[in-house]
Amino acid sequence: MRLLLLVGVVFAANPASAGAQSAVAPVHLEIKYLRDSEEYWILVQQIYRAARETVARAKDGVPRGAAWGVVLDVDETTLDNSVYQLDRGAYESPFDSASWNAWVRREEAGAVPGVVDFMRAVRAAGGRVAYVSNRNESTREATRRNLTALGLWQEGDRLCLETSDHTYTKPLRRAELRKGAGTCSWEGQPLTVVAYIGDQMGDFPSPGEEGDGSGGLSAFGVRYFLLPQPMYGAWTTRVTRPDGKGR
Ligand SMILES: [Mg+2]
Repeated sequence: MRLLLLVGVVFAANPASAGAQSAVAPVHLEIKYLRDSEEYWILVQQIYRAARETVARAKDGVPRGAAWGVVLDVDETTLDNSVYQLDRGAYESPFDSASWNAWVRREEAGAVPGVVDFMRAVRAAGGRVAYVSNRNESTREATRRNLTALGLWQEGDRLCLETSDHTYTKPLRRAELRKGAGTCSWEGQPLTVVAYIGDQMGDFPSPGEEGDGSGGLSAFGVRYFLLPQPMYGAWTTRVTRPDGKGR
């Protein structure tokens, strides 16, 4: 990571949220790291394995008969869009929603290493699966087909996408799932979320969001599982680490 920053490889292409973009650098080590390195390949599987162990333990604490499950982001959490990033890099073009939606409709994203086994374990244990993503509602069917082709979608899963109403944020969609009320939820069936998985901070409840004092840094590695993703994000244009030591 230090090397990446030193060479100034910053290709800010945030496909699923309103992130700022920056100039394209000629060498895309951030994409190569994600696509080609042994370290990334192992790291994400390590995190998914830890999540799987958490799920195996946590489900026993859920009251009998109550619905429980996991909440995952889509892009760079379940689906690998590095081919889109390569395309953008080759053309030296920044992210834009038209090219992004065209890529989504190709339905060619791969699976992030480890996610298929994780999902299989969750389902085998009786858990539900909800995807909360800022992909656009207009790409719902393409997204679902892409997930299905990779063994990541099952009838009854929830796919909670961004709509034309931009106030319908990820926190609101997560709240619907937990309450069992709203278009994104299993209506009338509140969900106990035993694990959240994502590659950006917005994929996780902010402290206090769940109303029970949970959340924050202490939740990571316990109930929140953050995957590495060096290709885009808020960090590309500003310091986001909270201890003030970034520069
Ligand atoms: Mg993501």
